[in-house]
Amino acid sequence: MRLFVNHHYCPLCYAEIPIGSQSCPACGRDIEAWERDTPYFDRLIWALRNPHPEVRMGAILSLQNHQRDAAAVPLARCALAAPIDVIQGLAVVQAITRLPAGEQQRQALTLLNEHPAHSVRVAATAALHAEGTTSSLP
Ligand SMILES: [Zn+2]
Repeated sequence: MRLFVNHHYCPLCYAEIPIGSQSCPACGRDIEAWERDTPYFDRLIWALRNPHPEVRMGAILSLQNHQRDAAAVPLARCALAAPIDVIQGLAVVQAITRLPAGEQQRQALTLLNEHPAHSVRVAATAALHAEGTTSSLP
């Protein structure tokens, strides 16, 4: 939960807010209620769209440890939404490769073949081929 304990940013409208705010001064939403009522996994997926790179990176690393294949495609979209952030793009490829192998993972790595950064495309292609050799296609 570390990522969301200090509310530097509203998780809903992404405005910068004082630490410890219960509701957001910008959008007026009740942040504490949202965090209480929204499953942690869903909040991590939501955080992938945060405009602040450090919040996204925290979510990428947490999702890597969560081992849920549903994270694969949102992770890929996160990387594609920040085309110049190569470090994040590579972190996303690595996170996707740690997720359970399967259709979601394959789809996510295929999406990353469109990433503008050459090194991200290379990593995604390598991961796709490595994954293809260990799992059987339907
Ligand atoms: Zn807000």
